[in-house]
Amino acid sequence: MKKLAEARLPTRHGGFTVMAFGKAGDVFPHVVLHGEASPASRVLDVRIHSECMTGDVFGSTRCDCGAQLDAALAHVSEHGGLLLYLRQEGRGIGLVEKLKAYNLQEQGLDTFAANTALGHPEDARDYRPAAEILAELGVEKVRLMTNNPDKVEGLQRFGVEVVGRLPIDVGHHPENADYLKAKRVLSGHFLAR
Ligand SMILES: [Zn+2]
Repeated sequence: MKKLAEARLPTRHGGFTVMAFGKAGDVFPHVVLHGEASPASRVLDVRIHSECMTGDVFGSTRCDCGAQLDAALAHVSEHGGLLLYLRQEGRGIGLVEKLKAYNLQEQGLDTFAANTALGHPEDARDYRPAAEILAELGVEKVRLMTNNPDKVEGLQRFGVEVVGRLPIDVGHHPENADYLKAKRVLSGHFLAR
């Protein structure tokens, strides 16, 4: 894992430096956005966001990803920190399988049962790339923007010290009420409702 390229990236949330990480020749690298604001402490606020094309790009209300991405970018722009955008669409099963899982959810399965019915793990994500990117950037201690206890543990397993958690409870919608309930009840996500 190494930095392949870097550029200035002005956005509607403010100015960032964008960096691409991966192996030489990667066409779909992991992406890091670094906020221009100076953080108040040496502990960086970090959002590790798993790619969700339907939510992030198209604004799907089936999930909360797009709203979380917006909130994280606004936070990093204002307070400094990093957003890591990991190319693990559909909790790691890819877009095709995620769309199939959506159809199973229409039939009443929850988001995790739909994945297992298709022969996948409930969550196929791997936080090793995130830990490797943070190591490349010299970041050892983070406050993680997440509602997901597995993400905190997954990162610590690879040697990153998570000294705090910032909740990112946004994007509630009638269309995703069952999805968010499954995350809260079945996967222990810290969500108010
Ligand atoms: Zn999503």
